[in-house]
Amino acid sequence: MPESSYRFACEAHMDVVIDGIVDDFAVAPTILPWPDQTVRTESPAVCHWCGKSADYVLTWTTDS
Ligand SMILES: [Zn+2]
Repeated sequence: MPESSYRFACEAHMDVVIDGIVDDFAVAPTILPWPDQTVRTESPAVCHWCGKSADYVLTWTTDS
């Protein structure tokens, strides 16, 4: 089943976080401004790279 994944990014590190997703999962994520109504998360919305509050959420799906 396809599974939705996401990582958050601040303005400064959006490119770094996208590159990490491309490297780790071989997918190009969808970029949405954060907060976004369609994304529900239980983890804190902080930049994957620096831990500051997020400006964007990057989502993608993986087949598992
Ligand atoms: Zn950051």
